Amino acid sequence: MKFQFGQYGGQFVPPQIKQALDELEQVFLEAIEDDSFQEELRYYFKNYVGRPSPLYFAEELTKLGNGAKIYLKREDLNHTGAHKINNTIGQILLAKRMGKKKIIAETGAGQHGVATATAAAMFGMECEIFQGKIDMERQSLNVFRMEMLGAKVTGVETGTKTLADAVDFAINEWVKRIDDTFYLLGSVVGPHPYPTMVRYFQKVIGEEAKVQLNEQESVLPDYVIACVGGGSNAIGIFADFIDDLDVNLIGVEAAGKGLDTKEHAATLTLGKEAVIHGMNTKVVLDDSGNISPVYSISAGLDYPGVGPEHAFLKDSKRVNYFAVNDQEAVAAFLKLSETEGIIPAIESSHALAYALKLAPTLSKEKIIIVNVSGRGDKDVEAIENYLKTHKRGI
Ligand SMILES: *Cc1c(COP(=O)(O)O)cnc(C)c1O
Repeated sequence: MKFQFGQYGGQFVPPQIKQALDELEQVFLEAIEDDSFQEELRYYFKNYVGRPSPLYFAEELTKLGNGAKIYLKREDLNHTGAHKINNTIGQILLAKRMGKKKIIAETGAGQHGVATATAAAMFGMECEIFQGKIDMERQSLNVFRMEMLGAKVTGVETGTKTLADAVDFAINEWVKRIDDTFYLLGSVVGPHPYPTMVRYFQKVIGEEAKVQLNEQESVLPDYVIACVGGGSNAIGIFADFIDDLDVNLIGVEAAGKGLDTKEHAATLTLGKEAVIHGMNTKVVLDDSGNISPVYSISAGLDYPGVGPEHAFLKDSKRVNYFAVNDQEAVAAFLKLSETEGIIPAIESSHALAYALKLAPTLSKEKIIIVNVSGRGDKDVEAIENYLKTHKRGI
């Protein structure tokens, strides 16, 4: 088998899917060489998603840290409020190119489900989303959103009834419907070519940030920081900087209730090499070697695997990965809201928390870019509940 990222990646899938994946890869490779596809992608990024998203100098936050300058890449300002729409637009254009009119997707908290249902509505495609039964109960607002956008939401009753089970379920459903259905995966995970394809559609984040910082400061950043669930917003902002070896790249995953507890989602920090969802990568395993349930206050970060490219970037040491716990993330969520009037997603707050620790240790001419992967309106209630039982601040 071919692996795309060192020993990581690959295609661990049934033969029927292997053929569909090869076809998908072919279509993808042709599409990105085709000017009309590129033009269409640019058109929807600009006029529907609202790209480019601003690169904002967070002056108040910088003053507070009294160290490095902090810039924020504002993916929270995209249509539907996060970076996920970049990928769903890209993949739905591929579906259209293949003549497929039916879309299926998995979702955890419902963010990818909403982004997929949004793009499917706009392109007039039939859309079915698979979501764990427990996640459907926890995230009922997103279930209504998907339904309003015309999607069918199907509950998954197997396993822990959460994201990992929804992905397995979606892959199995795809086998049954492979002739007329496009599987729209939500992060840089799954069998090849998904990690490569999703990276391609998300790399616009870092390409824009590089140009925007050059316009404002005429330099490259010293640090680029992003949160890591499956890893798509992080790969998106890192991709264009990977060959710039002076730029420090930092991925931040969820330490949940602490790395010394079982309630975390720190795949790169504590995971081991294993196969999950069609790829070889790092996975959080229990003592008997089974995939472990994971936890974070942030629904978008609690995934037991991670994109295979991140496993490779960790081993090769090009990217450093750290873990931030619930409490630190909530404190950063409140800090950005209070100082800059920007309510970030609780996922993005993990990246911010690390930036807030780092900035005071650096001199004032250093520059940090933090990817604000999404907005926090969806998290306000969870933060409110958290504050009822926990102290504010770190
Ligand atoms: C889904 C989500 C994430 C995590 O997904 P990645 O693939 O790791 O980017 C992070 N931030 C937001 C706002 C999300 O919705």
